[in-house]
Amino acid sequence: MAAREIIQVGDSRLREKSRPIERVTPEIRQLVDDMVETMYENDGVGLAAVQIGELQRILVIEIPEDEEIWGSGELYVVLNPEIVKESRETEVGVEGCLSIRGYAGEVERATEILVRGQDMQGKSFRMRPRGYLARVFQHEIDHLNGVLYIDRLVSPDRIWEVTPGTEEAVESEAYAEEECVSPETVSSEAG
Ligand code: ZN
Repeated sequence: MAAREIIQVGDSRLREKSRPIERVTPEIRQLVDDMVETMYENDGVGLAAVQIGELQRILVIEIPEDEEIWGSGELYVVLNPEIVKESRETEVGVEGCLSIRGYAGEVERATEILVRGQDMQGKSFRMRPRGYLARVFQHEIDHLNGVLYIDRLVSPDRIWEVTPGTEEAVESEAYAEEECVSPETVSSEAG
């Protein structure tokens, strides 16, 4: 396994649609290993293959164990993930992105989704992430379609700077509340 470089906003690959995986080859296994390693090394909670420059429909997610977060403490590797259904109920939360260093912003997401995909054996499965885990799934699946969280801000001014290196730990509200500098703090520091 090797951690790889994460491409940054402005790189046109982040705006492309990733290709479906047809077969789990040794190359795909290697890619997944590298994605997991890269996510761990950057303290991220999720990563899409495109973020290390591979336009393949793969995501990895792992939220550090937290009894208040549904589905945390487990590694999810999903090939060809697709949102089949989403709850009408939504929630506004803060997101960061390993490909948009130094920023965090507010995004409205469904609180529960039904996801379909394949595992590393090529077997189809469905799961129903909710809460923070559902948010991370929606964020990563967006990447596979060339969409970034900055396209979905609740309003254009609901994004702010954070200390570079802390946004990785954000990826959602649970961490943001502890680690993000609020816009008010940023402006008072600047003043
Ligand atoms: Zn991201």
